[in-house]
This record gives sequence, C-alpha cells and structure tokens, in this order.
Amino acid sequence: MTIKAYAIDGNGTFAQDVPAFAEAVKGAELVLVPGNSRVKRSMPAAALRAGAEIDTNVVDIVLDGEKATVQRWAYRQRILTTFSRAARPWVIVTDPSLFAEICAKLGVTPESLAPSTSQSSRTTVNGVVAAGNGGASTIRPDAKLLFVAGAGWTKKQADGALHLDDAAATITGFLGKSGASLGSSKSLVDMPEAADAFSFMSHMNQVGQTGSTPRHAKGLATCCHGEEPHVVGWRFINERRAVNLDANCGWAQGKADVLYVADASEVMKKVNELLG
Ligand SMILES: Cc1cc2nc3c(=O)[nH]c(=O)nc-3n(C[C@H](O)[C@H](O)[C@H](O)COP(=O)(O)OP(=O)(O)OC[C@H]3O[C@@H](n4cnc5c(N)ncnc54)[C@H](O)[C@@H]3O)c2cc1C
Repeated sequence: MTIKAYAIDGNGTFAQDVPAFAEAVKGAELVLVPGNSRVKRSMPAAALRAGAEIDTNVVDIVLDGEKATVQRWAYRQRILTTFSRAARPWVIVTDPSLFAEICAKLGVTPESLAPSTSQSSRTTVNGVVAAGNGGASTIRPDAKLLFVAGAGWTKKQADGALHLDDAAATITGFLGKSGASLGSSKSLVDMPEAADAFSFMSHMNQVGQTGSTPRHAKGLATCCHGEEPHVVGWRFINERRAVNLDANCGWAQGKADVLYVADASEVMKKVNELLG
C-alpha cells in the first residue's frame, strides 16, 4: 500500500487549497495530513472533489498488509474507537501534535504541498430560495416552547403493546398545532427500532451534554426520565414541566417546576384535542 504524507502548514485560502489538495489526493491510496486549521478548512472539500473518504482527529494508525486500522476518540473522549475503511483514496487527518510521530512510526517522510496558483472556478448564483420556517423542520429556535420526547414513547403502552406510529402522530400533531420546537433524549434518537416511525427527528434534535442546549421560554418533557446528562441541556429553558409515569423520575428531583405523573400518550392526545 502506498502512503503519502503531506506536511501542510502556514496559511492558504480555501479557493487555492482545495484544488491543490484534491490533486494530491486523486489516485492515492492512503493520504496522511495533520489536522491543523488549514487542513480542516479545505481538506474535506478536496476529499469530496477527489472522490475520497476522509476521517479526522485520528490518533493512531496500524498497518496490516493492505489493511489500515485507525483509532479516534468519540463521545467526548470517553470511548476510543478503532475502525478501518476499504475505500481508496482514504484521507486520514491526524491530531496535529501526533502527525510527526505517526509518520515516523509508518516510516513515511512527509512532503510539502504547494498551493495551486491556478484560478479557482467561481460559483455562479442562479437564485436564492428562502428556507422559511420549514414545514417539515422540527427544530425551531424561535419557538416559545421546547417539546421533548423521550424513549418512553417507544415503550409498551397501557394495553401492553407498542404504538410507535400512533406516538409519532401524537408528537407531530402537537408540533403542528403548537409550533413548538422538538427536542429529544439521546436514548430515543439512538434507537434504531424507532427510526422509521420517528423519521421526523434525528441526532440534531438531541438535547443534553452531548447534544444541544436550546434557548426557549418554556419546556415540556414527555416520556423522558430527566437524567442529568439530558437535563444539563435544559440550562437555558426557564419554565420546565414534565409528564412521566414515574413519580420518582429525575424531573421530580428539583429539575422541573411541575411534574405531571401521568401517561404522556393520553395527556398529549387530550392536549391535541383541546388545541383543535
Ligand atoms: C456521557 C454521557 C452523555 C450523555 N449525553 C446525553 C445527552 O446529551 N442527551 C440525553 O438525552 N442523554 C444523554 N445521555 C444519556 C442519559 O444519561 C439518559 O440515558 C437518557 O437521557 C435517557 O433517555 P430517556 O429519558 O428518553 O429514556 P429512559 O431513561 O428509558 O426513560 C424513559 C422514561 O419514560 C417514562 N415513560 C414510559 N412510558 C411513559 C408514558 N406512557 N407516559 C409517561 N412517561 C412514560 C418512564 O417512566 C421513564 O422515566 C448521556 C449519557 C452519558 C453517560
């Protein structure tokens, strides 16, 4: 396997660097670069242009014949992941401080890369389409209310059965009527079995330590336990209410102003009815 390493530093504009980097990546197998700000700005676009795969923040590379395995931290440095890719070219952006060490370990001498002097092609704007409020978009930063759905929506309901489609209809029905922004707990967005029914939410909706910290005047959590890693994302939500079957859930421990101990499915269906 041929490995190319480029010691890229100094300054360079996106317009000049992308074509130069793409040229260097095209036809290569493994390309190692240090993850400084210049590389992080232009290399992803260059990789896309060159039809390459790219991974950043790599801390180690192990070669075994034609197979390269890399390591990077995930989940805020709590889990060290090890993975490999069959795709080539594969651009591996290392932590900048580890670049020299990794190159030395693999026996590669980094080359310098000259920026392109050719004129970059300019984008011609044909028109602008306003994004609007996005009828289908569930993240609405200007909404007064944050409505959070937790994993409880995917649990067996009072009749002992799962009602994912019904739950999804109740949630989207409420969002449509109230104009609220949709937040989620990590458990719900990470649940593959809920992905089809809850296609209107993604990791972008996740509120919490490893999610977002939205700002809304009010928040209503439903079927969400109120664990600290989730509630920390509520620090800018002023008035907090929660609906949970469990009177001892996290919200009851001083994290919500009002906790309704009730079946959220029934409560939200009634709320939807009242909203008309
Ligand atoms: C390092 C780290 C970072 C994390 N970051 C985040 C983060 O950013 N965001 C986040 O959300 N989590 C995060 N977590 C996970 C967090 O600790 C919880 O596991 C997660 O928030 C739980 O999600 P949940 O409340 O939806 O699910 P569960 O804990 O499964 O709770 C479901 C709740 O629904 C209730 N329920 C069930 N059925 C009904 C019903 N019909 N009506 C009413 N209530 C019902 C149950 O009583 C239960 O309280 C993190 C964890 C770690 C370790």
